[in-house]
Amino acid sequence: MQIYSTDHFGLPLPPGHRFPMAKYARLRDRVAAVAADLLAIPEAATPAQLSLVHDPAYVTAVMAGTLPQRALRRIGFPWSEAMVERSRRSVGATIAACRAALGAGCGISLAGGTHHAHRDFGGGFCVFNDAAVAARVMQTEGRAARILIVDLDVHQGDGTAAIFADDASVFTLSLHGRDNFPFRKESSRLDVEFADGTGDDAYLSALAVALPTALAAARPDLAIYLAGADPFHGDRLGRLSLSKAGLAARDAQVFDALRARDVPVAVAMAGGYADAVDDIVDIHFATVTLALERYGATRVLEFSAKPRIRPALHVPRV
Ligand SMILES: [Zn+2]
Repeated sequence: MQIYSTDHFGLPLPPGHRFPMAKYARLRDRVAAVAADLLAIPEAATPAQLSLVHDPAYVTAVMAGTLPQRALRRIGFPWSEAMVERSRRSVGATIAACRAALGAGCGISLAGGTHHAHRDFGGGFCVFNDAAVAARVMQTEGRAARILIVDLDVHQGDGTAAIFADDASVFTLSLHGRDNFPFRKESSRLDVEFADGTGDDAYLSALAVALPTALAAARPDLAIYLAGADPFHGDRLGRLSLSKAGLAARDAQVFDALRARDVPVAVAMAGGYADAVDDIVDIHFATVTLALERYGATRVLEFSAKPRIRPALHVPRV
């Protein structure tokens, strides 16, 4: 297993900005204390990789700093060279985590989950859609033909849903708050919506139905799991009411369902906006430690013995 960190590529934000940039370095520190040998720094996603999903004109505008102000306001970050580098490394981390997963059963990005990025615009702190690009890169490299995206961030994966709306090779599953951002929802292949205040039991029961349904329909070679920390009851933007134990049970359900079907998984951390950054880090770290428990080094042989998948005939829409 490999764990990819991107916190070396910080994003300069004005004071008081609500994006919790501090969580990434703290999470990497916690992971380094238990699995330093597994940590790696990913390559930046290339413009060609990004353009498998995104409008090449959008990719060029992001990289050149020529996005209009209203497009940047929708993203929520000021433009800088560092913002471009961080966004590219974050996508690179999910690509690398997918490759690691296909070799060893599981790969982890300590960032990612930028699911509000659409084909030709970003939004909600998301510049490029890491899971969508990684899915397309795995398909173009012939590593996986069918992919399941399990999006358990509290906000709907609207960008991902829209990108794959007409593509049966990538199944999008999203469990999210019904009355929360984004207020105009897209249609994922399977959406499960929760009322404000939904707690552990109702959430976990719904997940226990949704996961096997999605797996049966998707028949995936690879899953990408967005393990958002923002369904937590202490989250400022989440509006649901899951406990830390409930979120750990959620992660266990996902890993167990995928392992039972021998589906390798790439994990991205996605959102988390609790007042106390340590709460966010606790939740993400619990996801990482559970993955370390479930996917030990012994699984490398088992997964590498699987035959390579032929390159997909599917041609990405670009
Ligand atoms: Zn979120």
